Amino acid sequence: MGILSEKPLLILGGGLMGLAIAHELAQKGKRVEILSRSRNEAAGFVAAGMLAPHAEGLKGELLSLGQTSLQRHPRWIESIETNSKMPCGLKTCGILVPFENLKDCESYPTYKFGEKLTRIELLQEVPGLSDNWKFGLLFRQDGQIDNRRLLMRALEKACVELGVHFQEGVEVIEIMKDSNKFNGVKIKDINGNINHLKSEEAVLCCGAWSKQIFKTLPIFPVKGQMLSIQGPKQILKRIIFGPGIYLVPRDDGLIIVGATSEREAGFQKGLTPKGQRELQKGIKSLIPELNQLPHMERWWGFRPCTPDEGPLLGMSSINGLWLATGHHRNGVLLAAITAELIGKSICSSYLSKEESNFLTQFRWDRF
Ligand SMILES: Cc1cc2nc3c(=O)[nH]c(=O)nc-3n(C[C@H](O)[C@H](O)[C@H](O)COP(=O)(O)OP(=O)(O)OC[C@H]3O[C@@H](n4cnc5c(N)ncnc54)[C@H](O)[C@@H]3O)c2cc1C
Repeated sequence: MGILSEKPLLILGGGLMGLAIAHELAQKGKRVEILSRSRNEAAGFVAAGMLAPHAEGLKGELLSLGQTSLQRHPRWIESIETNSKMPCGLKTCGILVPFENLKDCESYPTYKFGEKLTRIELLQEVPGLSDNWKFGLLFRQDGQIDNRRLLMRALEKACVELGVHFQEGVEVIEIMKDSNKFNGVKIKDINGNINHLKSEEAVLCCGAWSKQIFKTLPIFPVKGQMLSIQGPKQILKRIIFGPGIYLVPRDDGLIIVGATSEREAGFQKGLTPKGQRELQKGIKSLIPELNQLPHMERWWGFRPCTPDEGPLLGMSSINGLWLATGHHRNGVLLAAITAELIGKSICSSYLSKEESNFLTQFRWDRF
């Protein structure tokens, strides 16, 4: 069979993981088709874009996965920027985590990776930081990426440049198999027509909605509400990551404020007064003066969460159907390593011992 008659590998879901994996596979010469229900609902367009394995206080294998991904970001972003000819806004700006007392600071799970700051040093870093915060940990190695305005768009463009085929507005309604071997999907197109799209291989990247088409996956949504405020340029030089609240300064003075974490909300859409009040209160608890700045935008989205908050990576129980989902609150951070692990697995490329270990640790059936 010639290359052109070969059925494309299907990417189910065109959010952050779908785009990252499509890009990786297209670079490796695979024919790829993305089936995307709605670009707008993707958490990739919602996230604050922090690259924060240390500031988030990750532990165990998830910390190792996050640290490895962080190291791979510069090379990963370079490939996207080269293929798209667009910038992505990667910045190792450092993240500061403030604490009310020394005990909390010294017992933080990633304490040993940070630089301990006193109140005086904290104020030098963040003038105007509220009196509650007496100590801090500075993680210089953590950073951010402008996912909403730059990375997602650059990934889309890079995929198109590499010949990835897009079907936007197409919903996967059923996964088809023949004796436990994946053989395509049933889709509903934008006109309501239902078709069977045949393929021998696919990657399931439906984020928080993954369980709707693969019932046994332990994935559930965790809603997050956000807002942004406009400050002068350089108003904050680093990200401030407080308990339940963070401030992510972009180069143009826009500050992304996040985020609520609402497990009980399910897939309930929209902003709520309670959620927005929580963000406002959070800003006041960190830097009260910032509440005087104009609010620019408010938005929300759904994180794909699993029982241990780690992703599901690798082959599913259906032969030929790969999984890349469940990245919860660290999907932007983990996109680089996810694309690499899934890309190498599908193309049967060499996996290092560490990479094979990640695929074992983050199997879908580990629970
Ligand atoms: C408020 C908030 C803040 C966050 N902040 C950060 C952060 O600072 N740093 C970080 O690393 N991570 C952060 N994240 C997490 C990150 O955004 C997610 O982990 C990541 O976007 C998950 O990518 P995904 O591709 O799995 O899902 P998504 O990006 O949500 O994409 C899933 C896509 O699948 C499509 N889809 C669903 N069902 C179907 C179907 N049946 N057929 C076809 N298509 C379908 C959807 O339309 C959607 O476009 C945040 C998330 C939220 C919500």
